[in-house]
Amino acid sequence: MNKIKLLTLLAIALLFGASAVYSYYRDFEVARHVSATIKAVSWSSSELEMEAVKFDRALTALAAGMEDEAYVQLRFELLWSRVNSLLEGKESRPLREQPGVLPMLEDLLFQLQQWEDRVYKLTQQDRVEIAGLRTELAHFQHSARGINVENYSGENVWRQLDVIQDSKLYSSLYLAGLLISGVLMMWLLVRENRRNRQLAYHDMLTGLPNRMYFYQLIKQAMQWADRHHSRLAVHMVDLDSFKAVNDSLGHEVGDKLLKIVAERLRDTVAKQGDVARLGGDEFVIIQRLSQGQDVSAMATQLWQSIGRDVALPDGCLSPQACIGTSLYPAQGRSVAELLSHADTAMYNAKHNRQVSMQLYESGMDEQRLRRQKLAIALQAAIEQDALTLHYQPIYRLKTGHIESVEALLRWSHLEYGAVPPLEVIAIAEQHGLAHRLNEWVLLSACAQAQQWHQLGHHRLKVNVNISPSIFMDGELANTVRRVLRLTQLKSAALVLEITEDTSLWDTAGSEDQLRQLRAVGIEIALDDFGTGYSSFSHLRQLPLNKLKIDKSFVADMVTDRRAYHLVKTIISLAHSLDMSVVAEGIEDAEQAVKLQQLGCELGQGYLLAKPMPAAAMSEVLQASIAGQPSVVNG
Ligand code: C2E
Ligand code: MG
Ligand code: MG
Repeated sequence: MNKIKLLTLLAIALLFGASAVYSYYRDFEVARHVSATIKAVSWSSSELEMEAVKFDRALTALAAGMEDEAYVQLRFELLWSRVNSLLEGKESRPLREQPGVLPMLEDLLFQLQQWEDRVYKLTQQDRVEIAGLRTELAHFQHSARGINVENYSGENVWRQLDVIQDSKLYSSLYLAGLLISGVLMMWLLVRENRRNRQLAYHDMLTGLPNRMYFYQLIKQAMQWADRHHSRLAVHMVDLDSFKAVNDSLGHEVGDKLLKIVAERLRDTVAKQGDVARLGGDEFVIIQRLSQGQDVSAMATQLWQSIGRDVALPDGCLSPQACIGTSLYPAQGRSVAELLSHADTAMYNAKHNRQVSMQLYESGMDEQRLRRQKLAIALQAAIEQDALTLHYQPIYRLKTGHIESVEALLRWSHLEYGAVPPLEVIAIAEQHGLAHRLNEWVLLSACAQAQQWHQLGHHRLKVNVNISPSIFMDGELANTVRRVLRLTQLKSAALVLEITEDTSLWDTAGSEDQLRQLRAVGIEIALDDFGTGYSSFSHLRQLPLNKLKIDKSFVADMVTDRRAYHLVKTIISLAHSLDMSVVAEGIEDAEQAVKLQQLGCELGQGYLLAKPMPAAAMSEVLQASIAGQPSVVNG
């Protein structure tokens, strides 16, 4: 609520409050005044009446010879002074102010003036005069009583009651005003409070509960599970390459993506639990499980809902996420434990190319520790040039001629030994080392290829694998140009291998980069084709030269008819799109023969040659020039 509104409301309430107090005070004053008046009037008039009675008794006593003339005169003086004090005395003012009282008192005074001479001349013997005075006095008494009666009856009383009534009405109105403004203020305060609560407990961007609120929600859910002897699943969701989206497409797109993902998660979870945003691109879902309910179903639904295409002004995005799940109470009884285990499972999924969802298992903590140690060691290894590349030849199947060599990363850690390249890449992606690692690989591979060119292998190409983030941060084209300049390698000798995941964040920006590279003669190959999520329309859109059929299809093509047909379809599809095909993972001669029959131009695999160090590769290349059989088993 803004300050002005609050102040205005406060002022109104104060006004009403003050008026109500004032009106009550007035009410009280009027009542007091009326009661004082009534008291004063009745007192004064009854005093007067009493004095008249006493005077009458004095006259009777005189006639009976029981009192003398002086006593009658004294009573007369007292009666007079009573009338005088009523006419002039301060205390009698309320009485005088009563309508009709003053003329009445003046009448009485006039009467006394008439009697004065007669009373002073009066003697015990003047019986007739005494009787006459008594008759007139009876009349006087009647008038005196009249003062009292007048003020206690008829219009006069009504008028006084009206005054009280009026002041009561006003104070009731003021009170109602006070009540209304009070209610209004309460309502505004409640609304304000609710808004503040919303702000304090929700994430501004997505409107989802924030970290603070999440702690409350999960505690409530845990109590629920305890009461119902039930379980909870805590799903930790982390978007892939979100930082890269933010960096390359801008924060607006990043924000939009987060909002859409939040909405999808909320819709998917619906009434089965709560969704919160812990920060950045990290979401968490608390799912209340019913008896025997499958945990992975929800994780799958969440993963599928996130993965739907997001339309952008100039392209579209297919967001991917990794999900890690932990279970209450089996895998942790505290919030911290549950979160940490879900996080570990998620981290594990991120490093495993085969799965995007993982349920926590006890061994995962160790793997996480291993990755953290590896991340520190990897940074040092890049700086100290302690990484190496192995090379695996790619053959033209028809001629047995080596067309290209694929550079494959090798790294050995003191404690853990050889670390699989996919894990190295994932660690680098996770710890912000991907750019430097990619650059190192590019530089080393191109320098090595240039050396082979100088040794006479002029037409040899080098395939370099590119990981998602270098592609996403918009720097790929620049980095490649710089490396080619530094190493003097011809651009036509470089083949960049991108995976389907790399091209998933499909935007005009990424396509542009590929086109720029193509324009200078660099070839682009789509690696591991068939394992990712590319649609055929997507395939048509990207400026690709080569498709690499994933080794899993090649492995099965001899034994499994469906795999065979799939390979056949991929080959004809690639040809229809003007791409050549590389078969990966050729391990036996039958595969090689069949692939060749299907028109696959290029092949790579243990049957032909295993990945080998650069020196061994040099020998293989030399032998191939010398006309020796080029297909070897390294
Ligand atoms: P990839 O690019 O598909 O590389 C081919 C992988 O298949 C290599 O595994 C290779 O050793 C293996 N391979 C080759 N022939 C056969 C065969 O006949 N049978 C079987 N079972 N495997 C075969 P490697 O070297 O372990 O690399 C794994 C993945 O790691 C690569 O898959 C690539 O995606 C990634 N990678 C390797 N080096 C780099 C790198 O320098 N940068 C990036 N970004 N990724 C890399
Ligand atoms: Mg590759
Ligand atoms: Mg591959």
